[in-house]
Amino acid sequence: MRHSRQREAILAAVRGTTCHPTADAVYAEVRTKIPGISLGTVYRNLRVLVEAGELLAIEGAGGLSRYDGCTESHYHFRCDVCGRVIDVDEPVDDGLDGRVSARTGLAIRCHSLEFRGVCSGCQAQRLDGTANEHPRA
Ligand SMILES: [Zn+2]
Ligand SMILES: [Zn+2]
Repeated sequence: MRHSRQREAILAAVRGTTCHPTADAVYAEVRTKIPGISLGTVYRNLRVLVEAGELLAIEGAGGLSRYDGCTESHYHFRCDVCGRVIDVDEPVDDGLDGRVSARTGLAIRCHSLEFRGVCSGCQAQRLDGTANEHPRA
């Protein structure tokens, strides 16, 4: 795959972070290097890079798509409060695709798993809130 300078910068912006940026966040980052780039160009190139298998798109239920520079199979956690997506250090179940495929006859290419809940940062904020409402003696 041939990379234009713009595409190269977009790829680098996503691969250079583990925070799974949205298209807007990628745009903000790339604009610091290529000031003239448009949001449309960022969206188009992200789509091309995902189709080429160079990036993963994480589609959020009702949320914005986020982009992942790590294309190895791995699991994610999404915070219900701040929307942050983080990688979960949990071994991927390699046998799952085959088991489900054998049982259902579906031709399974891969699976994705997203844990949901409250991230440690948001948990700490909640604890702070509680402490303020009910000060301990
Ligand atoms: Zn959070
Ligand atoms: Zn990830």
